[in-house]
Amino acid sequence: MIRQDKKILIVEDNPLNMELLKDILEAQGYQIVQAYNSEEAITLLKVAKPDLIVMDIQLPGMDGLTLTRLLKEKEGFKNIPIVAVTAHTMKGDREKALAAGCNGYVSKPINIKLFTATIADFLFKGTKLKDSRDEGFKGSNERKS
Ligand code: MN
Repeated sequence: MIRQDKKILIVEDNPLNMELLKDILEAQGYQIVQAYNSEEAITLLKVAKPDLIVMDIQLPGMDGLTLTRLLKEKEGFKNIPIVAVTAHTMKGDREKALAAGCNGYVSKPINIKLFTATIADFLFKGTKLKDSRDEGFKGSNERKS
C-alpha cells in the first residue's frame, strides 16, 4: 500500500480532536488536509482533491450532515467517501449520518484500530459501508434502548 498517494481531508472544529485524528492518520502515512468548519472545507475542496473525508458531525455554522448532503449532490465530489466521526452516540445518529450520505460512521472515543481499518477499507477495498456496529465493536459506548 502506498499511502502517501492518498489524501484525507479532516473536517473537525475541536483542535484536540483534530490533532488526534491528524496524528493517527499521519502515522498511517496519509497526506492530511485540515478544515475547522464547513466553509473552510468547501474552499479547500476546490483546490485539494481528497480521496476521503473524515467528517465531524457537530460543527459551528453548517453542520457535518448538511455539508455531507451538499457534497453528495455535487458532481466531482459525490464519489468521495465520507466517514462520519461523532461524539454523539445517541440512538439514531448512525442512521442520520448514513441517511445524509455518509459512507461510514465511527463514534468517539476513537478506537484507533477500527478507525484506521475503516479508512483503509474505503481507500483500498472500495468498501461501501463499514462502521462500529458491523464490526461488533465491543468498546462502543453506543446506547442501546
Ligand atoms: Mn465538533
